[in-house]
Amino acid sequence: MEIPSVRPPAVIAVIGAGNMGSGIAQACAQSGFTVRVRDIDAPMLERGRGLIDKMLAGAIQRKKLTPARREEVLGRISFTTDLRAAVEGAALVIEAVFEDRAVKAKLLGELGPLVSPQAIVATNTSSLSVTELSRGFPHPERFAGLHFFFPAAINKLLEVIGGESTDSGVLDALEQFGYLTRKVPIRVADRAGFAVNRYFVPYLNEAARLAEEGVASLATIEEVGRELFGATLGPFELMNVTGIPIAAHSQESLHAAFGAAYAPSSRLEEQFRSGTPWAWKEMAVEPQRKTEVRERFLGLTIGIAARLVEEGVATPEATDRGATVGLRRAWGPFAQLSSIGIPEGLRLVEQYAKRWGDAFPISAELRRRAAAGESRWPMRYVRVEHRGPVAWVLLDRPEVLNSLNSDLLEQIERAFQGLESVPEVRAVVLAGSSPVFAAGADIAEMEHKSLAEGVEFGYIGQRAARRVEAFPGPVIALVEGYALGGGLELALAADFIVAAQGAQLGLPEVTVGIHPGMGGASRLTRLIGRAKTKWLVYTGIPVGAEEALRLGFVAQVYPAGAAREETQKLAETIASRAPLGVRWIKRVIDDGMDAPLSAALYLEGQSAGHTFGTRDRTEGMRAFLERRPPKFEGK
Ligand code: NAD
Repeated sequence: MEIPSVRPPAVIAVIGAGNMGSGIAQACAQSGFTVRVRDIDAPMLERGRGLIDKMLAGAIQRKKLTPARREEVLGRISFTTDLRAAVEGAALVIEAVFEDRAVKAKLLGELGPLVSPQAIVATNTSSLSVTELSRGFPHPERFAGLHFFFPAAINKLLEVIGGESTDSGVLDALEQFGYLTRKVPIRVADRAGFAVNRYFVPYLNEAARLAEEGVASLATIEEVGRELFGATLGPFELMNVTGIPIAAHSQESLHAAFGAAYAPSSRLEEQFRSGTPWAWKEMAVEPQRKTEVRERFLGLTIGIAARLVEEGVATPEATDRGATVGLRRAWGPFAQLSSIGIPEGLRLVEQYAKRWGDAFPISAELRRRAAAGESRWPMRYVRVEHRGPVAWVLLDRPEVLNSLNSDLLEQIERAFQGLESVPEVRAVVLAGSSPVFAAGADIAEMEHKSLAEGVEFGYIGQRAARRVEAFPGPVIALVEGYALGGGLELALAADFIVAAQGAQLGLPEVTVGIHPGMGGASRLTRLIGRAKTKWLVYTGIPVGAEEALRLGFVAQVYPAGAAREETQKLAETIASRAPLGVRWIKRVIDDGMDAPLSAALYLEGQSAGHTFGTRDRTEGMRAFLERRPPKFEGK
């Protein structure tokens, strides 16, 4: 199946110019896409245009945007009531019309014959089933969910939802589209509430329940919500801002899908019917009531989060990403679980679940980990993907631009160690899962470290870098976006760096009171000499990809949109060469660097001589004489 490349300046059609559609259109235009917005009549279109104008004016006021850039963004958006004209030639159509099954189904039926045969169509539904909606579209394999969060132009979270028939290539393309619009996409399964609303909406409902049961005053509940999740707004203020009706409707859909434990609180329904906002400000906070509120919120959140992971709705990492990126909480449910310890987490979930019995099932994995005495929930920050003979080791903490914490560094070490014994892997690419390599070490983690822990952290980083460097086969670091501080230090441990245009590379450690410690300064000195290294390290100022190429620590620069494809091609070329030849010359170059020239020459000569004893040498030379491509075995 041919998947269109959804890259700027491709056309994106946004159907529905309401609160969400206008924000989606703005986000796409700001990222360079050509956007066509369609609504049913001129006043609705005007409303949408007004919403975009207001958002852009706000950004100018906050000095986030220049007037010239606003004109550029507006220049990319056109408005129409003509559905055919809106979707013609569009690579991606995003519908954001009313949350009404019949309205959406009718629209999808109309879209069928109008969209180009390769177009992807996505629904921005928050509560309807993507699979069910896809049945109304003639090409369900090209249909998926893209759940943006309000305000869509600003909030960075994007849930990418596959329906039963969605092609996996379509989901890959939508994930890439998410990165291109500067979002943090997370893959989630098609279940009610997807990942984030599944635990977030019940939290709002629980706040109303706590009030209804007289457990604590609204002010107490509000304050606990804010403190517990490290959020700017507590549950009541949040509902006042985003809409009490939305909270009530969303809870009702969860209730329909998951039963009694998700029943809307009658206090929430009353507030919805009254049409008035929650009033907590004039009430007193009761410190002695906080523990019960805190335990209820934690039991509910951890209980649901662990269940949704068990059901395969999202990974624990995506679930936490949803909380920190989408809800702007300081911690996700799994980070919270790890900080209180899994056994204590299970105690709170069991305590919460008691009143619901079977209606609030407890994750078996949570029980198993608690019984095993595990304290922290393991989080995966490194992914390994195999593409033919090339393994991609992907740094996967996009919500913090892959900043390196000890877990991530240890996982890099383990990933490379694991690949050492896989002979089919002929080349490795080290890159970000998103178009960012790594923006540095995790300052949030480092801030609280003692002297001894700081030293230890440096060694954890060095071990990871050494493992990359000592990998027997070729390793290419692909730098897109940023490779700063520890990020660049890690990239420098690869055989060479290739970079995408626009990437920034630097060692800015001195700007935060430390200096490189993972070996970056020593490796860079060997690469480009003392003077240039010192210039880079003393100033801490990053350089662009082209400048890094000129300075000599980047080997190639690729156009940003093509960097991954080009790097894969390059790695495949290397993978097609005689494996032992490549491995052995890697050692000759690396070990020879630290030896006197005479010793290096001896090593090179001896090693080259040994290649004559390989089957690959016989095959390579025969193939050359027979004018055919060689078939190397690595023997
Ligand atoms: P809205 O009422 O602000 O906007 C809907 C727009 O769709 C209106 O301008 C309406 O005129 C237009 N419309 C209706 N039928 C149309 C058609 N056939 N063709 C073109 N336009 C049509 O609603 P919203 O808040 O923007 O929500 C839109 C979708 O996004 C819903 O599915 C909603 O569930 C989802 N969503 C909303 C939020 C949120 O916080 N508001 C968050 C995530 C997802």
